[in-house]
Amino acid sequence: MRKFGVILLCLVLCSCTNKYQLPDKWKPLETVIDRPGYGEDDWWTTTLGSSVFVADLDAWLDFKKPGGSEFEATMRHERVHAIRQEKIGLVKYVWKYLTDQKFRWHEEQLGWYVGLRTKDEYGVKWDIKSVVDSLRNYWPSLGSRPDIQAWVTAVKNKKWRPEPGELPKEYEDL
Ligand SMILES: [Zn+2]
Repeated sequence: MRKFGVILLCLVLCSCTNKYQLPDKWKPLETVIDRPGYGEDDWWTTTLGSSVFVADLDAWLDFKKPGGSEFEATMRHERVHAIRQEKIGLVKYVWKYLTDQKFRWHEEQLGWYVGLRTKDEYGVKWDIKSVVDSLRNYWPSLGSRPDIQAWVTAVKNKKWRPEPGELPKEYEDL
């Protein structure tokens, strides 16, 4: 809640200096915004509306070079959130995300599914354990380790797909 409070305050008071303007292909996302001090984890990435917030923009861009597989996987994940936020309504989405574990888990399943399939598309290897570890680090919690592990394994084995219409059309065939 504290982290979200910081971000929501930023949306209101923002005089953020360091920003990365995204090309049109990422619409409705428009900018990646540097929020020094936000989160203990440098790779923490949060989308609210048209903005993506990161803890250290320069380090983030250095690791996730635009056009590269990490950037594509992360931005497609965040774009799924942005499109869903538009569809559901930003305030309702954020409220449900914070208060409804099933909703939160499903939204992350959609984002992670697209991210992991993007890695497959780029030929980037990923292993179940490190994905499970990352998902277990989420706050608030996404679910139990066995549930998360079962889901990541199903994605790896191509036994899980989003329902038709849940993803933007351009990601449906990933
Ligand atoms: Zn996400």
